[in-house]
Amino acid sequence: MEKIIQQFLDDVHRRNQNEPEFLQAVSEVAENVLPYIVANDIYYGQNILLRMVEPERVVSFRVAWIDDQEQIQVNRGYRIEMNSAIGPYKGGLRFHPSVNLSVLKFLAFEQIFKNSLTTLPMGGGKGGSDFDPKGKSDTEVMRFCQSFMTELFRHIGPNRDIPAGDIGVGSREIGYLFGQYKRLKNEFTGVLTGKGVSWGGSLIRPEATGYGVVYFVENMLAHHSESFEGKDVVISGSGNVAQYAAEKAIQLGARVLTLSDSSGYIFDPDGIDAEKLNFVMRLKNEERKRIHHYVEAYPKAQFIKNKTPWEVPCQIALPCATQNELQFKDAQTLVANGCRAVGEGANMPATPEAIHHFIEQQILFAPGKASNAGGVAVSGLEMAQNSLRYSWSRDEVDQKLKTIMGDIHDSCVSYGSEQNYINYVKGANIAGFVKVADAMLAQGVV
Ligand code: NDP
Repeated sequence: MEKIIQQFLDDVHRRNQNEPEFLQAVSEVAENVLPYIVANDIYYGQNILLRMVEPERVVSFRVAWIDDQEQIQVNRGYRIEMNSAIGPYKGGLRFHPSVNLSVLKFLAFEQIFKNSLTTLPMGGGKGGSDFDPKGKSDTEVMRFCQSFMTELFRHIGPNRDIPAGDIGVGSREIGYLFGQYKRLKNEFTGVLTGKGVSWGGSLIRPEATGYGVVYFVENMLAHHSESFEGKDVVISGSGNVAQYAAEKAIQLGARVLTLSDSSGYIFDPDGIDAEKLNFVMRLKNEERKRIHHYVEAYPKAQFIKNKTPWEVPCQIALPCATQNELQFKDAQTLVANGCRAVGEGANMPATPEAIHHFIEQQILFAPGKASNAGGVAVSGLEMAQNSLRYSWSRDEVDQKLKTIMGDIHDSCVSYGSEQNYINYVKGANIAGFVKVADAMLAQGVV
């Protein structure tokens, strides 16, 4: 079996050189899915995984715009349309200087499995730009978004490809992108998700990824007769996912000890309560400032510069910032300090070595493609509401989100149960694969 996996990975590597993040995501899936393919005649010999790792389409384009000093700036824009076997392409847009083809292909590949797990009819895609919204004025961000959409609009549509937010793309950016799409097409359609509630957005969409991670971990803990109540929780990031993961963990009676950004983390020994979290939300979302300002308002907290929060003892860790932010030595420290459960809010935040350590130590480990699927699930619900021209209440959407996260958990259990341990990575990879593979087989070689 190892030889088959290695041959497959060598082939993918040969065709995708200089794409380390993409190869990392593919090899994690291949480790679980290839043995399943070999054991199941209907998939064997169909080159189904080889077809899945090749994007259906990759679009790359120039984004020229004028900054506040009237200088012409040029960025690169992308959209990866990875797989449309079970529905139109769906996945976020990331604006961050680290964006390149490898990062977006890994995200688009993960998105195929994630979207399949939600049970909603959505294919996989991802896009973005190496543009950095940090430190830019609102008008610069608007001009960039308008220029970006002036090319992107011809590739997307409510039945073709429906982007959403991701790192660096929040409600402000979605607003500017939607405004430009509507102006170019002269159509008011659900072409983007994460829209404002007064113009086609869904209640609970901003909260959905963070809440969903906590619902997933809650299911995982309940399955092992445990809960969030009274647990110490360490969270990385202080953006959309981190903020709402913190909010839900606090509501479930946990003590949230940390938040972070790319310059370091804050540690509050008393716990970040609802009032302190409101301060963080204002700081990050309205004032657009850095997390270290937290210690000016709450002097008992400390700011630890240029470090990640995994050294803080906790029972639950929720990495909610970015890929490869939790490495092998961090996993060792977390386990040694008594961590019981890890739920990935970000995409691929734990390195393969860290994941292997968690699995070896039988830590409850929820991979992002399962545990952070709440965001795209509610995006799917936003699309459904747009098609119905109707809005569900906050409670209705939250209830549907809880049900979806519970169902994803149960799918992972059915495909990932091993002797005395549930391997959620294996469960998520195989459960996500089966639905897409069946659709691809039914649709022939396309
Ligand atoms: P935001 O832009 O709102 O926040 C990102 C946070 O992560 C910020 O605190 C940012 O700090 C930090 N961060 C980004 N890059 C790095 C880095 N290289 N090192 C350390 N910290 C970093 O993004 P989201 O909260 O939306 O996304 C976070 C993660 O969750 C991503 O992996 C994303 O793909 C994933 N995700 C998001 C979904 C959503 O609905 N938004 C859905 C599913 C997954 P700084 O400000 O310093 O850059």
